[in-house]
Amino acid sequence: MSITLDARTILLLMAFTAVPTALVLLAVSRFYAARVRGVAHWTGANIALAVGLLLLGLSQTANDLPARVGGNTLLVLTTALYYLAIQRLLGDKPSTRLAWTTVAASGIIFALLWTSAAPYRLAVGTLSIAVMILTGLSAARLLLPLSAEKPVSHRFTGLLFLIGCALMTVRLGHALLSDSPPAHLFAPNFWQGMILGGAHIITMLMSLGFALMIVDQLASELNRLATLDALTGIGNRRVFYTRAESELARWRRKGTPLSLLMIDLDRFKSINDQLGHAAGDDTLRRFVALVGPHLREYDFFARLGGEEFAVLLPDATEEVAVGIAERLRELTEAERLPAPGFAVPTTASIGAAQLLAHERTIDQLMQRADQALYAAKSGGRNRVVAASWLQEASATRPEAAAERSSAAIPSLQTENE
Ligand code: GH3
Ligand code: MG
Ligand code: MG
Repeated sequence: MSITLDARTILLLMAFTAVPTALVLLAVSRFYAARVRGVAHWTGANIALAVGLLLLGLSQTANDLPARVGGNTLLVLTTALYYLAIQRLLGDKPSTRLAWTTVAASGIIFALLWTSAAPYRLAVGTLSIAVMILTGLSAARLLLPLSAEKPVSHRFTGLLFLIGCALMTVRLGHALLSDSPPAHLFAPNFWQGMILGGAHIITMLMSLGFALMIVDQLASELNRLATLDALTGIGNRRVFYTRAESELARWRRKGTPLSLLMIDLDRFKSINDQLGHAAGDDTLRRFVALVGPHLREYDFFARLGGEEFAVLLPDATEEVAVGIAERLRELTEAERLPAPGFAVPTTASIGAAQLLAHERTIDQLMQRADQALYAAKSGGRNRVVAASWLQEASATRPEAAAERSSAAIPSLQTENE
């Protein structure tokens, strides 16, 4: 038994599926337009698809010129808009010129072919090549470079574009090489019916793929918002704990040292009080911008809240941590935040600690780093204190630890204590 799918039925079915898909995406784009790019282009693509297919599917004769030229050009426009939507969603600079050139060139070729009553196979060839180029580019953008980190939604949608591109290649081959190519769109032909049926399924799934890509995009945006500090853009307290736990697990497995710095900016309140909260905010951002570049790639810098920061230092002993802390302290002092000439420039007090063999939790490490920070504050601020110095000093006198640190600002030592 041979089944020949009817082209007109498939075209109309595709058109009627594209309309609700376009409407749903339009609704989505109204809610998320600010955050997800490319939705308007995808919606436009589905509208072009629906109109193009209606033009072709409702035309009375197989050679209705405006319907054929308009319909086929709209199908090329659809694939061009899909490509632009994908590029926009992924944050690329869209290849607008390439897309429009392909649409315009195929429109002109369609008009020339139909006005000169050229064989139908040439029009099929033109459509197939234009769609192959644009779906091929979309597939490449979504699938390449091959990497395990690509979101599933990208791979799924990319694969659909690849199948779409392959279908068009088959259609091109069939139109140009077959002994009995269809004479026109509505000529009953097994291969033409199968290819159009396949295109229908693929097109429906592509919109599903795009919707999944939007979901992925929103999920990663939410994840970013949930883990980053809104003011400074570095990790927040929550992601600090997650990261600290995974470093703790690594420390248990590998036994490499793990250290922590707790940083608190000195006399920060006076910036807010004298220059206003906005100047305080700006100072926090500038402090982060100052410190960030001086950390190693695998160090983790987070804002725990207010003017308190933490730096996780994997593979660093306490001695190394103190060296890093000292450099950060010097940088901060030299920067004279918030501005040169301000009466009480903020500096950094830093407590450093290395995870000890008997310690079981990050809280224990944080507690010791906090005690060291407290000692740096009470020792006069603008200084680095290591937790181990406190242990040694507790045998003698507590101030000894703070005295070991290199810097002090004598004039400020007793203020605000
Ligand atoms: P110390 O040297 O003892 O650390 O003194 P300090 O003034 O830095 O410490 P204190 O904890 O008394 O004050 C911290 C101030 O930081 C209080 C609060 O107004 C300010 N602060 C906390 N979070 C923010 C923020 O997000 N933006 C701004 N501008 N200020 C903040
Ligand atoms: Mg402070
Ligand atoms: Mg504080």
